[in-house]
Amino acid sequence: MTDLIIASQNVHKIRELSAIFNHKGIHLISLKELNDNDDVIEDGHSFLENAIIKASYFAKKYQKPVIADDSGLVIHALDGRPGIYSARYSGGDDHQNNLKVLKEMQDKENRDAYFVSVIVLCYPNGVYKSYEGKVFGIIAIEEKGKNGFGYDSIFYYPDLDKNFAELDSEIKNQISHRANALKQLKEDIDEIINYK
Ligand code: IMP
Repeated sequence: MTDLIIASQNVHKIRELSAIFNHKGIHLISLKELNDNDDVIEDGHSFLENAIIKASYFAKKYQKPVIADDSGLVIHALDGRPGIYSARYSGGDDHQNNLKVLKEMQDKENRDAYFVSVIVLCYPNGVYKSYEGKVFGIIAIEEKGKNGFGYDSIFYYPDLDKNFAELDSEIKNQISHRANALKQLKEDIDEIINYK
């Protein structure tokens, strides 16, 4: 049995990852279970840099393989913002972040956007691999829907003609940027199990 640490306190993410790693060769351990509240400063300049900072910190600390992710919303007309600042874009809560984006998008014709998730798998020796998933959509004119979190209520997904916050979590978890990155990570499960 190989221990694999998820560098996250976020219950949504832990649940999503546990479903994928429901594999007898891997014992998944979250920072929550380890009672580890270390505040790693994510001062990277990209999603990838931030995920590497987190994953390598905990891989070194626990001498075990670690997965960490960083994600956010990228809007073409805003030169990629909120990007790596997605979680703290307005300085307030999710609703305030959404209002700030809607205001900045008021006069924009091009409303193309995507969510991106970068997952990094890092081994104690510092060697890492990264996996990137994206999902493309359009910034809506106003908030709609009550499900999900973050920017889900302003992210319109044309294929299903709904905002992300109007989708059931099972549906969102099949098409999301994170699901996309996780599918790629899953292909490397054997490599993780055989890690020595
Ligand atoms: P982090 O990867 O937990 O740091 O997430 C960064 C931020 O990106 C979150 O706080 C949300 O604002 C946004 N975000 C990431 N994934 C999603 C999603 O699936 N839906 C809506 N917002 C998201």
